[in-house]
Amino acid sequence: MILLLAVVFTASCSKYQEKTSEMILFGTTCRITASDKADFDAVWKRLGELEDNISARSEQGDLADLNSKAGQGWVEVSQDLYDSLKIALDIASRSNGAFNPAIGELVNLWGIVDKHPDVPSESDLAAVMEHIDWHAIEIKDDDGITMARITDPGVRIDLGGIGKGIAADLAVSLLRKQGIKSALVNFGGNIMCLGSHHTGEPYRIGIQVPFANRNEYKQVVQVIDQSVVTSGPYEKNFVGSDGKLYHHIIDSATGYPADNGLASVTIIGPSSAICDGLSTSCFVLGLDAGTALVQSMEGYSAVFILDDGTAVPVGISL
Ligand code: AMP
Ligand code: MG
Repeated sequence: MILLLAVVFTASCSKYQEKTSEMILFGTTCRITASDKADFDAVWKRLGELEDNISARSEQGDLADLNSKAGQGWVEVSQDLYDSLKIALDIASRSNGAFNPAIGELVNLWGIVDKHPDVPSESDLAAVMEHIDWHAIEIKDDDGITMARITDPGVRIDLGGIGKGIAADLAVSLLRKQGIKSALVNFGGNIMCLGSHHTGEPYRIGIQVPFANRNEYKQVVQVIDQSVVTSGPYEKNFVGSDGKLYHHIIDSATGYPADNGLASVTIIGPSSAICDGLSTSCFVLGLDAGTALVQSMEGYSAVFILDDGTAVPVGISL
């Protein structure tokens, strides 16, 4: 009997076939590697809906609608947008506004993501800086009717700093509901693992050497059921006519790309949305305030890479 069971068990193990499925979502290549039994199409379909609901760049979407009604009172919003705004406002508060979901007009002005940009003029910058206060964003849930409002007509919301993390969490929860036990989600470098590798080993995730080739790693972390998210200036940037490098993570205190001695920040923890929000926050905050923020979040750790290449671990040993 034991022998028979052992034979059945080995046979079912040997049948495990892994598949990687890809889709362009949230302006990046999203990849899921899991058993070929997973219903990848169902996951991509739901993530497409999420993108429409929370991306400021989905023109017909829920967030575009809320942004277009800034200053006009409460707007009914999808559960997706409500939940995302809730996480964004929580991280804004914990990071003292370093994470700023009201940064939309500043992101548009710099145009790093979708235009051919140059450094904005001081006067354009000063005008936009009047309209980036995240306290202008409010949410409420009236007996299951989820609502949001932007009290300043000049404020536009941008959830680009947590969107991929929210998507990664959703992908893993959908796969888990399908009965999948092991999966690796990689949404533009935003990693989330479901369980461990199907062999039982932890997933080994490399932290990229800033500005180097994609497969050059500074450190490797081993994770089970956790997310690993990096923010850095090397993903989206441009060289201005003054010869300086400008990137996409903006310090709303100055209006300029954050510049405080960090080459990248990686956050490791159970929620990819929170890792994503924290990595953007810590990149703006710098090493000292960023370390304090990570230490205040139970279950989260970080690796800061300084401009000189030194890796500084917080709550994790390398
Ligand atoms: P990430 O790559 O997750 O660090 O997010 C960067 C993206 O978040 C940018 O492309 C902007 O859309 C948005 N963003 C830029 N600066 C901030 C900020 N200070 N707070 C929140 N979101 C930001
Ligand atoms: Mg982020």
